Amino acid sequence: LTIPQSLQQTAEAFPDNEALVERSTGRRWTYREFRHHVRTLAASFDRRGLTRGDRVGLWSPNRAEWTLTQYATAELGLVLVNINPAYRQNELEYALNQSDIRWMIAAPECKGADYAAMLTAAKLNCIHLETIVLLGSPEWDDMFVEPTPEELDKIAVKTSVLSTDDPINIQYTSGTTGNPKGATLSHRNILNNGYFVGELLQYTEADRICIPVPFYHCFGMVMGNLAATTHGATMVIPADGFDPAKTLETVVEEKCTSLYGVPTMFIAELALPDFDSYDLSSLRTGIMAGSPCPAEVMRQVINTMNMAEVSICYGMTETSPVSTQTRIDDTFEQRVSTVGQVGPNLEIKIVDPDTGEIVPRGQTGELCTRGYSVMIGYWNEPDKTAEAIDSDRWMHTGDLAVMDDAGYVEITGRIKDMVIRGGENIYPREIEEFLYTHPDILDAQVIGVPDAKYGEELMAWVRLRDGALTFTSDDLKTFASGKIARHKIPKYVHVVDDFPMTVTGKVRKVKMREVAQTLFA
Ligand code: ATP
Ligand code: MG
Repeated sequence: LTIPQSLQQTAEAFPDNEALVERSTGRRWTYREFRHHVRTLAASFDRRGLTRGDRVGLWSPNRAEWTLTQYATAELGLVLVNINPAYRQNELEYALNQSDIRWMIAAPECKGADYAAMLTAAKLNCIHLETIVLLGSPEWDDMFVEPTPEELDKIAVKTSVLSTDDPINIQYTSGTTGNPKGATLSHRNILNNGYFVGELLQYTEADRICIPVPFYHCFGMVMGNLAATTHGATMVIPADGFDPAKTLETVVEEKCTSLYGVPTMFIAELALPDFDSYDLSSLRTGIMAGSPCPAEVMRQVINTMNMAEVSICYGMTETSPVSTQTRIDDTFEQRVSTVGQVGPNLEIKIVDPDTGEIVPRGQTGELCTRGYSVMIGYWNEPDKTAEAIDSDRWMHTGDLAVMDDAGYVEITGRIKDMVIRGGENIYPREIEEFLYTHPDILDAQVIGVPDAKYGEELMAWVRLRDGALTFTSDDLKTFASGKIARHKIPKYVHVVDDFPMTVTGKVRKVKMREVAQTLFA
């Protein structure tokens, strides 16, 4: 199936079910209405001369229009290019030129950033950019004039010739470890991924999914939107941006059955002073993903947020994204401390990064994955593609993992984040998990910093809970002695209010390492 065929099936099966709820405006569309708006927009794209394969950029925080554009571009086989809401002039122009964007659809502004002005300036430097349409402008509104029956027929013909292997989406990776790369994805890649994520969460048309994670990232647009529309479930968009209180309020008022977040979002929700006053009884499931999910946070989510069936997913933009996922019938321990088993119709293996040989179960190596989920490649970057995907189509993730005898996987960190102290490999993840067990610590991240004697030393960055005033390396030493090996106790402790983050809510260890340098200078 292609995405338009899938949406058609759902709209025919559940025409009166709510497809989308936008909290900031109160808009609500049934599947019948949603598909109609999608096809109306597609007809306008067609009328304006956009054709299969053209790149259309979308730069906006989560709004109903984001989702409409996602499905309307797929309808014609246009390639949607997700633009990170945090981008500013240089990054914007990089993406516009890197993927030869012809059309840009954008919010006029976002959190004080003047998108309209940046786009006008970018037009001078980006030769392929022909048209800028601002959401909410008269030009945008004009795109929703009722299409004629002939126009709709024309769209149907264009939809019928699409191939499931067409590229329809370029998603830049989060940029956690360096420059974002444009993962190019097909209908087959992302439609299957959304579908199977929803299957494993046992979604039905009765589910209502609260999606505070960005649509610009696959977590929102695939695990959220596509998982919903392949099951007739409802996409619920909390008010623009992530706000822990508004998110929980959305769950309560919309009676959501499922809630998504990266770990930091759940940490913020659990830390709300009036957390107990939210009635979360409608919740059943949800997804925590995107970065290492501390077991302690998972326990709290299961025990206090009524999310007994919450799942951890592991994956990356390049793999559409999900490769492994915990299942509803896994044991409690498996669900808090692993990223589950490989997804349906996918393969994974753990290899020695140097030799490529599969390592024995229980040993750490690089996780590789193969199957329908692996991207077509990085847009216009054949060299980077060849580095990531080998000749047998295995995607090398750059993540370190261990698989047990039953096939459950634990992610132990990224190859790039591994610390080598005095010749000994140390996985920051293990120490972070340990730090979470300290009552004063709200959130913890561990990096390696250069050291003349050992090559690298460990440095812990911590965010303290309200009421806790200080935390020193001596406090850490006292707490950790006898509990973890001496060489794993971070030598340095740095207390911060916030970590440097990507907009997808991931901690940027690259940035932390840069800052650490200045702390020693
Ligand atoms: P870039 O590739 O640009 O540096 P990025 O890798 O953060 O950024 P994404 O594709 O958004 O970009 O994230 C995928 C990565 O996130 C994975 O490779 C993995 O390191 C991490 N990740 C995702 N889910 C999990 C999880 N459940 N547990 C641990 N790590 C995870
Ligand atoms: Mg990556």
